[in-house]
Amino acid sequence: MSTRDDGPTGTRLVVGVDIGNSTTEACLAEVAPDGSVSYLGTDLTRTTGVKGTPANTAGALTAIRGALARGGRGADRVATVLLNEATPVISGLAMETITETIITESTMIGHNPTTPGGEGLGVGTTVSITGLGTAEPGQPVVCVVPPGWDFDDAAAAINTAVAGGAEVVAAILAGDDAVLVTNRLTRPVPVVDEVAAVEKVPLGMLAAVEVAPPGRTIRTLSNSYGLATVFELDPAQTRQVSPVARALTGNRSAVVVRTPSGDVTDRRIPVGELVLRGAGKTLRVDVDAGAEAIMEAVARAQPLDDAHGEPGTHVGGMLAQVRDTMADVMDTPGQPAVPVSEIAIRDVLAVDTFVPAEVRGGLAGEVALENAVALAAMVRTSRSRMQLVADLVSEGLGAAAVIGGVEGEMAVNGALTTPGVDRPVAVLDLGGGSTDAALLTREGECTAVHVAGAGELVTKLIDSELALGDREVAEGVKRFPLAKVESFFHVRHEDGTVQFFDQPLPPHVYARVVVLSPEGPAPVPTRHGLDHVRRLRREAKRRVFVVNALRALRQVAPGGNIRALEFVVLLGGSALDFEIPDMIADALAPYGIVCGTGNVLGTEGPRNAVASGLVRAYAAEPVRSGPAAPVR
Ligand code: ADP
Ligand code: MG
Repeated sequence: MSTRDDGPTGTRLVVGVDIGNSTTEACLAEVAPDGSVSYLGTDLTRTTGVKGTPANTAGALTAIRGALARGGRGADRVATVLLNEATPVISGLAMETITETIITESTMIGHNPTTPGGEGLGVGTTVSITGLGTAEPGQPVVCVVPPGWDFDDAAAAINTAVAGGAEVVAAILAGDDAVLVTNRLTRPVPVVDEVAAVEKVPLGMLAAVEVAPPGRTIRTLSNSYGLATVFELDPAQTRQVSPVARALTGNRSAVVVRTPSGDVTDRRIPVGELVLRGAGKTLRVDVDAGAEAIMEAVARAQPLDDAHGEPGTHVGGMLAQVRDTMADVMDTPGQPAVPVSEIAIRDVLAVDTFVPAEVRGGLAGEVALENAVALAAMVRTSRSRMQLVADLVSEGLGAAAVIGGVEGEMAVNGALTTPGVDRPVAVLDLGGGSTDAALLTREGECTAVHVAGAGELVTKLIDSELALGDREVAEGVKRFPLAKVESFFHVRHEDGTVQFFDQPLPPHVYARVVVLSPEGPAPVPTRHGLDHVRRLRREAKRRVFVVNALRALRQVAPGGNIRALEFVVLLGGSALDFEIPDMIADALAPYGIVCGTGNVLGTEGPRNAVASGLVRAYAAEPVRSGPAAPVR
């Protein structure tokens, strides 16, 4: 119930508030007795705490006060705050590798020192630099230089041995002196440096050292048959060393040593079974079967009642962790703890990914790309805590606050304020944790669904696939186009165009792949080239949003048939992305669907749909004193 009198003309000041996983949005409006609405101002702020918990109050108050300031109204005049009915739909993310490359006995050194020396391929027996004098003339040797050797002394020792008839074909150094040593050699050979564990390089073994010319990558040691040729391997042995070739791909230099008992395995880690309960059945699927198999099972168990992982397996741990985290955040001090059994996993999105992981048994921190599966799980508890948030907002603002309107329905309602949009229409709300779809039929019936996985998952995939270890940098890679800084005065954009600058660019971005953020170019800390980063970014977006858009629309479409839809409006923070809306439109085009980004109120772009939808639903209600009415 409202606690305020109507204004002198009978108009009432209301604020719609949408608390999302990432963002809290507010929409301030005056509603006249005839139901006409004048929108006065909007605002948004980062959501405080986990969606649907009392910690949201602070963010909600910030957004409300922001909208009031923009609309030039005081808090004392607010009649009612309208909050979204946020079923605690919380998304958790977990990632597990399903392959592991292990090297027992030192068989490989394949790192990328920034400045290897010389170039070409050298194959010979490993000999310590102190033992060069006794090397048999005419027998190719690879010289191993332990730490502490000065580059002048090392070069002199090699030159002396060569003069004495030794055939030194390559060198492996502990220090960072490859170029200095190579420059002093009478007969230049490929030299790999910065090998931290050089003392572990076995002596008296056949080894191959390869250094590619500048700007190129190695050709022989990254090719399984190249390794087979160099080391005279049979097919079984070739299969065994193929992970070595894979781990060395893209390197500028590498060393491979063949040890008699050397063994490289490419082990599949049993991740465990995912147990899906829904649609009256229980389905089991092996997580290492990959995303496609998992999603096919999820589709068959729709609507999902709950999901579990086999106890004692990776997937068991992943899902238990999501559930525990949710139980923790749902706890309120002074109230009984939320039992984990009350928390049901209502949707799962699996995405194939890869994680650069250090090779076990490597000598110089070699990295191999291990296959992994990322799971986004969406949790729903049986307790809604929004009433508590409403009470706290009411107290903080000194105005009534009511819960009105289910998120999905309100989003459609807000989308209808986009010029050119009318019923029937479907919306896709591309948020941070979940992708939501809702359909409003010509008759005014509304169905809505949430599916797990959205913007946060994209950021996480970019972060782990590029091994950035920094969420903020990954968020930048997701949001802004890339460029390569080619000189102090120009960059080449990812579309190939060149931009010149009057002022020199800062030295720390020179020759780097950068993101063009509004604050200026920011380097992406990766060895990968621009094209690689771009491809990976687009793949991450496609695997989350295109998959989820189709999945969510299929669930609201009449008879599950996407073709039955005509118009789709994209909403939410991720609809601001510079390529996601196009990717979704492209994916929907074959179904004959008109798809575009919403422009809520004709001014807000894809933002504020739920908040302004709450206001619109309230205004449409005949007696405007209670909770907002459903869409009609
Ligand atoms: P929610 O409704 O779940 O609170 P939002 O609708 O605010 O979420 O969407 C949050 C997501 O939108 C985040 O993943 C964020 O990275 C993404 N996002 C916000 N602004 C942009 C932008 N300009 N470009 C791309 N993604 C964006
Ligand atoms: Mg939202």
